[in-house]
Amino acid sequence: MSDLTALILDRIRDVPDYPKPGVVFKDITPLLADHAVFCAVVDALADGFEADKIVGIEARGFILAAPVAYQEGAGFVPVRKKGKLPAAVLEESYDLEYGSATIEVHDDAFSPGDRVLIVDDVLATGGTAAAAVELVRRTGAEVVGVSVLMELAFLKGRERLTGVETRSLLIV
Ligand code: AMP
Repeated sequence: MSDLTALILDRIRDVPDYPKPGVVFKDITPLLADHAVFCAVVDALADGFEADKIVGIEARGFILAAPVAYQEGAGFVPVRKKGKLPAAVLEESYDLEYGSATIEVHDDAFSPGDRVLIVDDVLATGGTAAAAVELVRRTGAEVVGVSVLMELAFLKGRERLTGVETRSLLIV
């Protein structure tokens, strides 16, 4: 395990049975409050990717993606839950354990040929990230990768991102 991986593991707090029984919530607020680790994470999320736009997925993805965009000299694009973006949107729905969810992006958020890196905090079942990949591709932009702080390997989210370079700074 690298030094950074060990620090990330130490700074993420497990909150059992949140937001519902049986779920172990990965709380990244201790990591965000540690300046050195936060900076190292921002650097590692983008390292080696060439991107024109960084997508952050609501809500914790925003916190990571915005400084990545600043660092990379790239633009920041929010992907939000349905009904939150003010102008014309493209939407993509995906299945949850019970029901479904919809995410949206402004339909003019990307220029043709933009290279796009998608950033989020946790990759779980992969439904959210796969829907974000689909949304970006439908605009004509190119997805260069998905980069997350943490991956829950037992949920096999990576299998829904076949053909997409997927980076996780910590896999548990
Ligand atoms: P999924 O679509 O199942 O891969 O879920 C990923 C999204 O849900 C991400 O935006 C995460 O922020 C959130 N998420 C899923 N599981 C967890 C968890 N155990 N702890 C914290 N966030 C989670």
